[in-house]
Amino acid sequence: MKPSVHGLGRNRLLGQNLLMKFTVVHYGDPILRQRGVRIESVDETLRGTIAGMFDTMYQSNGIGLAAQQVGLALQLAVIDVRGVKDRASQLWISGQPADVDAFMPLVLINPTIRPVGEAVVGPEGCLSFPEIYGDVCRPAEVEVRGINDRNESFEFKAGGLLARAIQHEVDHLNGVLFIDRMDSKNRSEVRDEVDTLQTATKKQLKRK
Ligand code: ZN
Repeated sequence: MKPSVHGLGRNRLLGQNLLMKFTVVHYGDPILRQRGVRIESVDETLRGTIAGMFDTMYQSNGIGLAAQQVGLALQLAVIDVRGVKDRASQLWISGQPADVDAFMPLVLINPTIRPVGEAVVGPEGCLSFPEIYGDVCRPAEVEVRGINDRNESFEFKAGGLLARAIQHEVDHLNGVLFIDRMDSKNRSEVRDEVDTLQTATKKQLKRK
């Protein structure tokens, strides 16, 4: 996910040797519609992929990135909301409020979510849709389960921007995109830009 309010200048490598180099896949590439395969083992290769995804996300000033966006259909996403200071996030662990920044960066492997709370409208962007932004309605809070890059299972509840980012990324893992979640008015406002992007991406894929 890319915040529509720009706020991230962070470029933080996670000191792995196996760092993979990726470019972000744009809308029009069929991989973005593929459901991610469940990850069976968290090994060094996967950690190299994760480090590469964080590198790509920070370089692109994003706050979330799904494996599909780097051409891999896996149940894997990375998130870091620390760079955004003007949109609040909340976190609860075992029902207790917890420090969001201390919980970042966040690796979600095989995540399952249960959205809770009232639906709220908020602006969203996506690294696979450069310069395209729109309002999306999503539940304000979400309960999350999954495993991290140390193969530990986790469970927490998120609110605010973090809840929005998690729902956006987990959608990617199921081949669902933020334009699918827009209401018809917001969707029609970006239709031309989205169509232009799709055509350009398909042309580029043909040339390869
Ligand atoms: Zn996205």
